[in-house]
Formats: sequence, structure tokens, C-alpha cells
Amino acid sequence: MARIYFIDVTNRDGVQTARLGLSKLEKTMINMYLNEMGVFQSEFGFPTTRHETLYLQANLELAAMGVLQPIRLGGWIRAIVADVEEAFKRVPNIKHLNISISTSDQMIQGKFRGRKSRANIVSMMVDALEAARAHGAESVGVNAEDASRTRIDFLVEFGLAAKEHGADRLRYCDTLGYDNAFTIYESVRTLAQDVGIPIELHCHGDLGMAVANSLAGAKGAIDGGQDAYINTTLNGIGERAGNADLIATALAITKSKGFIKKYRLGKPIDLTRAWKTSKFASYAFGVPIPINQPGVGANAFAHGSGIHADGVLKDPENYELYGFDELGRGEPDLVETGREICSGLYIGISGFSHIMGQLEVSFDDAKHAEKILELARYANVASQKPLVEEQLLFIAKYPEITRKLLTLIPPD
Ligand SMILES: [Zn+2]
Repeated sequence: MARIYFIDVTNRDGVQTARLGLSKLEKTMINMYLNEMGVFQSEFGFPTTRHETLYLQANLELAAMGVLQPIRLGGWIRAIVADVEEAFKRVPNIKHLNISISTSDQMIQGKFRGRKSRANIVSMMVDALEAARAHGAESVGVNAEDASRTRIDFLVEFGLAAKEHGADRLRYCDTLGYDNAFTIYESVRTLAQDVGIPIELHCHGDLGMAVANSLAGAKGAIDGGQDAYINTTLNGIGERAGNADLIATALAITKSKGFIKKYRLGKPIDLTRAWKTSKFASYAFGVPIPINQPGVGANAFAHGSGIHADGVLKDPENYELYGFDELGRGEPDLVETGREICSGLYIGISGFSHIMGQLEVSFDDAKHAEKILELARYANVASQKPLVEEQLLFIAKYPEITRKLLTLIPPD
């Protein structure tokens, strides 16, 4: 039986969102959180973008050290041979890639302006795919950008060419959030049946349907006999109205009416880490979690009306679909209301040692303490806000990796 997997794209679609961004340490922490949750793959960045190089290499080092395991780390590039060459030049150890090209008539006419035909698009994709394979990529997903506005017969042709040349998955991108649950189901089931390759669902929320479309698409892939890989982001952060939220999608698959009976996860998601993960993403992006966000919003388990309060006190199942403890909620949030020592850009050794002591981190000697302090200062320069405990612990544990994450030297 085919299964559903998650490929989270927070570190690619999320960080390319207008007005938002993450430091390289924050991106690394997101990969750590996704790994802890059991996400199959993190689309961890852009191998052809210069300021990503050391970050990508450092994260692959963490994977080789067994820290970022078993999560797969996949890069996103354009389906252009030159980009494949550049990716493997900058990040030689990269093992997983998604290569992307637009396939719709709209993009062929409106973006390529007659410079590329459908045949050109297929051959560019095939050349890039073969180049990635020649460089030793272990898995390659092929992205049809604007798939939802692409003629289905051309999508099938494009998918068959990708499969024939060794693609592992076809990414169906509803780039503009144009699909609804009924249309994406039909398109993806046809693709799964006629192409015979696992399908990725990349859904956007321009019409408020990213999670629903992801589920319907996954059902289409599985009914067509293929595994489904749903693209998600933390808190749904992504281009424009955003992507399918990881936690909402995981809840929808496992808790919605009857779905899990036939459509199951290939790799369980540890939802007890949802609260912590969502809160970190919110802090790092500087975007509050909406009060009514599924599972992690402040009101997700709050009851104000008399009838609901009475009902939930008698039996939570009267008015709650799932328990707050399943999301890792329930511990009181401790907020310091008195004196507080914050780790900032200009923190000194005394304050820093105090903070690290509270985290039960001890230093070998003064030199060691100075070294970690300096890295924490630089991390603050990059994020411009106090570091959270997990970041401080990460820096103390992996100082050499942190140094790479904090090294940004623009090319001449
Ligand atoms: Zn996208």
C-alpha cells in the first residue's frame, strides 16, 4: 500500500517569503526540530546561492556526524545543467535535489515569451536530471512549476520523460494555489496512474485550501497506486498566502473523518514536538502564531461559551477533536517578570556564564568560555534577537559547526 511522507520546505519556500527570513543558525535549528518530529526530508536551501554554501555544508556535516539523521537534506535548484554543476561545485556532498522548471502555457507565453517550447522544457529538465545523476545525486525530484495550470497531457509527457531518465518523484506544484480538492485529486490520480512515479504535492494557500488540497492530492496519488510526498512549512509560512502548515496537515491526515483508515503516513510524525517547533518558527521568523491556528494557536483548546465549557469539563471529547497533550502543550509558559540577563550582541563573560550556568553548561576554562561567548555574540548579530536555550546549547555543543554557520563573506 502506498504511503504519505512529508517534505518540509520552510528553509526554502519559507525563507524566500517577502519581508521574512532566517539566520543560518535558525535554519539549522529548524532542520533539527524537523528531524526530531520525524519529517522525511527538509528542503534545506539553495545550493547555487553563495551565502548558503557554508550553511549547507555545515548541515551535511551534522548529517554525517549522525546529528541530522535520519532526516534527508534536499536542495532546490532550477532545472538547468549550469545550476547542477554550480550546486555540486559549491556543495559537493549534496545527495538530494529537486530541480524545477515551469510547465504551464501561462509561463511558456508569459514568462519565457516564446523563447522555450514544450519540447525545450522537457529536454532542459532531462539534461539537468542526467547531470545530477552523473554527479552522484542519490535522489532527484523533478518539479513542474505551475502544474495546476498545465495541460494534463503535457504533464504526463513531462513526467514520463522524468521517470525514464531516473527521477525519483514528480513535484506537482500548485504554485498559485489555484486548485481545489476536487481538481487536484483528479490531476494527481491521473499523473500517478499514467506516469507511475511517486508524486509530491506542493500547495499554496491563495484560496485558503493548501491543507485540504494536500490531502486530496495525497489521496489522488495513493488511489493512483503511488506514494505521496506532501510539501509543508512551519506555521504555513511561505510565498504570499503561504503553504500547507506541517502540523495542520499532520493533524488532518491522522484525525480527519476516516482518512487514516486507508491513507497512512509512511513515517510517523511525533506531534508531541509540535508546540515547541511551532513556537520556535514563530520566534525566529518574528511572526506570531494566529490565535486560531490548528493545534498550536492560543485558542485551539480554549472554551468561553457556557455550553462548550460545561461540555468539555464533562468529557473533553464533547468539544475537542484531539487533546492538547498530543501536541506537547500543557506545561505552563514561564515568563521572567523580574531581573533577566539576556544573551545579546554585547553580552560579557559574566552575564553569559550566568545564562549558561542556568542551562547546566560548564566550561573547561576561561578560554573555552570566551570562545563560546564570541560565537553567541556573532549568532546574535545574525538574528538580532536573544538566542533561545536550544540555540545556546547547540552553540556550546557544536562550536565548529556554529563557526561555519556564522561565516558570511561576500564574493569579490
Ligand atoms: Zn511554493
